[in-house]
Amino acid sequence: MLDNNNRVINYLRLSITDRCNLRCIYCMPEEGISFIPHSQILSYEEMLHLVRLCVQNGIRKVRLTGGEPLVRKGIIKFIDGLSKIEGLEEIALTTNGVFLKDFASDLRNCGLCRINVSMDTLIPDRFFHITRRDLFHQVWEGIEEAESVGFNPIKINVVGIKGVNDDEILDFARLTFEKPFHVRFIELMPIGKVDSWSSRNFISTDEVLNLVKTLGKVTSINPGPLSGPSQRYVLEGAKGEIGLIGALSHHFCDHCNRLRLTADGSLKGCLFSDSEVDVKTPLRRGKDDKYLSDLIRNTILNKPKDHGLNEYKPRKCVRTMNRIGG
Ligand code: SAM
Ligand code: SF4
Ligand code: SF4
Repeated sequence: MLDNNNRVINYLRLSITDRCNLRCIYCMPEEGISFIPHSQILSYEEMLHLVRLCVQNGIRKVRLTGGEPLVRKGIIKFIDGLSKIEGLEEIALTTNGVFLKDFASDLRNCGLCRINVSMDTLIPDRFFHITRRDLFHQVWEGIEEAESVGFNPIKINVVGIKGVNDDEILDFARLTFEKPFHVRFIELMPIGKVDSWSSRNFISTDEVLNLVKTLGKVTSINPGPLSGPSQRYVLEGAKGEIGLIGALSHHFCDHCNRLRLTADGSLKGCLFSDSEVDVKTPLRRGKDDKYLSDLIRNTILNKPKDHGLNEYKPRKCVRTMNRIGG
């Protein structure tokens, strides 16, 4: 379905929980987090109902996110339910990888098409600094397990932070020579109340690309219709790809195909907008599918034109990233 700015909206990012087993410095504070009460979180049944209606309104791809989606019990059965929704072409998952070793095989067999693992460093001590948990090896073993059960490509999400992991950009790029991974560099975004964003620790995707080019010839690849807004490249001789997500510096809002549903049942047309449409209350009050479908259609139609951010003067939206789902 088209929104009021003529964009095809076919991709739903579904946050299934706001809980997480890591505390990444740019996403969640170390302590004092108030989680959404369980009663306010959509049940899997409610999520399936809403996804079905979203698919009737043009959604073709769903990505499960969070919080950390693998901490929510019953996810395999839920994905299995999603895979039975007619018209839904792709189910993907973004995970921090902590539980991936245990889940990889079941995920592979339940209808999940793609997997993204977030990992901002290849150095164990630094992993502890960034995530505040000493779980580097567990995550790396999870990635290896995902590879061995046949996920291909595995996407590795790297949030670049100057002074924290910018000296590893080339190591991550080199990984694509060894492994068929798609390494995606994401610009640090000013989200939530976590005061970690500043232009001093921001690295633009242009800076990343310039660095990557020092490793060899770089060719650009055209994205497919369900791809997100990343610019894709391949280094000559590499098995994998490099993706650049210039959330701030390259305003991909013109091509944005995303809708978001939060774990507590609010639809969001834009990651950076505080405007939300509550679909849980009408669903729980027994409103019919036509009513709910109209809410979904209106959210799509009125999706904000862009993020309204200035590169170096960010406004911060009220929800933290773990409550939106990235
Ligand atoms: N817990 C899962 C994970 O980390 O992959 C899924 C949820 S997480 C919110 C989704 C993605 O958002 C991750 O790749 C994470 O690195 C990214 N993210 C979180 N906060 C961010 C920020 N302030 N700027 C850029 N990316 C961010
Ligand atoms: Fe958790 Fe993902 Fe946020 Fe890190 S980025 S704290 S893993 S939700
Ligand atoms: Fe889409 Fe909003 Fe992100 Fe722009 S800022 S790409 S409109 S979600």
